[in-house]
Amino acid sequence: MSWTKTIGIIGGGQLGQMMAISAIYMGHKVIALDPAADCPASRVAEIIVADYDDVSALRQLVERCDILTYEFENVDADALDAVVKPGQLPQGTDLLRISQNRIFEKNFLADQAQVTVAPYKVITSSLCLEHLDLEKSYVLKTATGGYDGHGQVVIRSAADLEKASRLANSAECVLEEFVTFDLEISVIVSGNGADVTVFPVQENIHRNNILSKTIVPARISPALAEKAQTIAVQIAKKLNLSGTLCVEMFVAGDDILVNEIAPRPHNSGHYSIEACNFSQFDTHILGVLGLTLPPIKLHAPAIMLNVLGQHLEKAQAFTQENPSAHLHLYGKLEAKHNRKMGHVTVLGEDAESEREF
Ligand code: AMP
Repeated sequence: MSWTKTIGIIGGGQLGQMMAISAIYMGHKVIALDPAADCPASRVAEIIVADYDDVSALRQLVERCDILTYEFENVDADALDAVVKPGQLPQGTDLLRISQNRIFEKNFLADQAQVTVAPYKVITSSLCLEHLDLEKSYVLKTATGGYDGHGQVVIRSAADLEKASRLANSAECVLEEFVTFDLEISVIVSGNGADVTVFPVQENIHRNNILSKTIVPARISPALAEKAQTIAVQIAKKLNLSGTLCVEMFVAGDDILVNEIAPRPHNSGHYSIEACNFSQFDTHILGVLGLTLPPIKLHAPAIMLNVLGQHLEKAQAFTQENPSAHLHLYGKLEAKHNRKMGHVTVLGEDAESEREF
């Protein structure tokens, strides 16, 4: 059996690019499928230029690769099932289906993984919003297709019901109780189908519903941190996880509630490239190949700042003044407002938690 494999990645964005970099330095070859010939992964891998649900392009990837993985969850699971060979997609498509639909996801988390989530119910039309107890606040989220706060309405009073009803009549939704959280955290966990390895707890700060900053370790008690890692491991084991998964959670007093899971490396885990002995991309590649996973060590506290289109100049100036900071740019040609262009990781003493771009 050859040690070096050809790994096919569905999606050639920054996550695909960073997965590819990890795979390449372990000696593997990478082919990514992406609609854009000049996608970030094109800097380091061959690209099959096609839409993600293009079955003949997926077949080409299947024929040319030993192992397949994906960089995002909105891959057509049926199309993948139709083409992959047994054992070729270690992450499987069940996990894709769970994370593509908030109803499946909540049911899986609450009933199967048995972790705490905000109280929720399935909403099939605006009729389900009648007789809502408006002493409490809620978040209404579309079951599919939402991201970064899109497809969501917060209901704090009767005044919000009209907008919420419109959303409820346009798509199947989940209604969650609003959690008054102290902070948002996430935990990266990677599996190889048998064992798992877990990363430190990340504290996440969002601006305009986009991740702005991650602070590691999260500013919570060791007991809460252990609880968060235990939850992530519990979910990973229930899934017989292969590859990397991110579990996003809310901390509310002594409680930890799971918000959602992402079946792939996650923006909040980018700090691990420099701050840990192995990055979330390294363990993703090891995991999907079914190889032994290392215990994760944090070398130093870290902060990670996202570089959006509007932050490019500030980020470059910052790294010129702070040469110990690590600037990553993903090679995207057009710097649009709010587009993730790169990130900066600052380690150790230089990691001031107040800094923002
Ligand atoms: P999501 O798309 O589920 O990740 O939600 C986007 C953001 O909305 C989260 O990062 C939270 O800041 C906020 N949010 C989501 N669900 C809730 C909730 N049940 N209670 C309070 N805030 C929430």
